[in-house]
Amino acid sequence: MIPQTDRPGADPIDPQIAPQIEPSWQAQLRDAVRSGAELCQLLELRPQQVALSAQAAQQFPVQVPRAFVGLMAKRDPADPLLLQVLNSALEDRHQDGYGPDPLDEAAYNPLPGLLHKYPGRALLIVSGKCAIHCRYCFRRHFPYAANNPGRQNWQPALDYLAADSSLHEVIFSGGDPLSAPDTQLRWLCERLEQIPHLQRLRIHTRLPVVIPQRIDAALLAWLTATRLQIQMVLHINHPNEISPALARALQRLRAIGPCLNQSVLLAGVNDDLDTLANLQERAYAAGVLPYYLFCLDRVQGAAHYAVPRHRALELVRGLRQRLPGYLVPRLAIEEAGQQSKTLLG
Ligand code: SF4
Repeated sequence: MIPQTDRPGADPIDPQIAPQIEPSWQAQLRDAVRSGAELCQLLELRPQQVALSAQAAQQFPVQVPRAFVGLMAKRDPADPLLLQVLNSALEDRHQDGYGPDPLDEAAYNPLPGLLHKYPGRALLIVSGKCAIHCRYCFRRHFPYAANNPGRQNWQPALDYLAADSSLHEVIFSGGDPLSAPDTQLRWLCERLEQIPHLQRLRIHTRLPVVIPQRIDAALLAWLTATRLQIQMVLHINHPNEISPALARALQRLRAIGPCLNQSVLLAGVNDDLDTLANLQERAYAAGVLPYYLFCLDRVQGAAHYAVPRHRALELVRGLRQRLPGYLVPRLAIEEAGQQSKTLLG
């Protein structure tokens, strides 16, 4: 067969109108922005407009996929997406009551890679990596190196799950579990399928929000093949994060049923009624239902994101007045030692 452009009389393909080949999610991960200075340069911010902290970046390196940077406004140091990822000097301030393990997770970590906090479900730290480093992350100091079993060493955690018939759900967490390759995720999912009392697999991920191409054929292949019921829980904090590419990815994800969203209430990012209402409306239009709106976990370095409790309650009351009930997320905090999340308001 003669290639299209070699046919007599055929016009050569104009590179301007040829379809763009999107880089794979793995390539986008590799190509992420890894310094606050580069981020500022890309967004045309002058050094005097931002106070960066080298110390904060050393403790928790900057990492932002370029597609997510593309959703930020240029020359705006208060852009709500930028504020979530820039290594700010505010992180260096000590604040009483904030620590490296705000949820006391070390007490619920019986085996490498496994956390068992609540009845009926347990959590696997499938990957210590994330596509994006959110500065408010409650696991920014988590000992991932000690919780990285690798394929050969998952057996103790699998035996633990098999031995407790009160467990019906496993949560893939991290880091971001979708930063792991599909071969590894499929392998682990197949091991879980062999445990008869497990019914559901929940996946907590922010990766598709920042690299929508993560929702690809390889992921959908194992998600739709498993006997386990899949529940995807996304992490979207601001309506500007819902790009056309994410909406297209979420369309593909409808094959596994509706997704839920959990957000963190963050000062300067989403602590106003219009933003929160818009977030719920836009997420729902893309097929995502609200789940939780979390008050900040008191992790060291993130105190400047805290929103006072009375303001959080006021915002949720405002959402209830403005939106139908099914679009109002549950305001919650996670408290160390409790048997479940604590609902507020
Ligand atoms: S993607 Fe999730 S786990 Fe990773 S840094 Fe952000 S909040 Fe933390």
